[in-house]
Amino acid sequence: MSCLFCKIIEGSIPSTAVYQDELCYAFPDLRPQAPVHVLVAPREHIASLAESEAPHRALLGHLLWVAAEIARTRNLHKGYRIVINTGEDGGQTVEHLHIHLLGGRPLGWPPG
Ligand code: AMP
Ligand code: ZN
Repeated sequence: MSCLFCKIIEGSIPSTAVYQDELCYAFPDLRPQAPVHVLVAPREHIASLAESEAPHRALLGHLLWVAAEIARTRNLHKGYRIVINTGEDGGQTVEHLHIHLLGGRPLGWPPG
């Protein structure tokens, strides 16, 4: 398996777990774009949101709930942003589905 995030999830590349359960693993982004920048990835290798299918519906909801839980533990009471970059035009650089949780500063809109 050559996927970077699969290696992080398996533990063959070391990382600090922010949250983990049987379905997903959350870890800090290597190049944080905000004071809080956490990635939430499913343990199952799904290349992108565009590759998700009907059996993944509950998993997708779970990933969002986990992001909200992490935001609560990080006291992001002023708000935060959830981002799922998808495909080439979406700016996705790692082909394993992941949610970005960004917070701790005001975030501009629209994004680039
Ligand atoms: P995306 O561009 O949406 O696919 O997001 C990929 C994210 O993974 C980027 O924000 C990178 O900074 C982050 N990233 C790349 N390599 C690592 C790594 N080894 N550990 C943690 N985050 C990483
Ligand atoms: Zn993977």
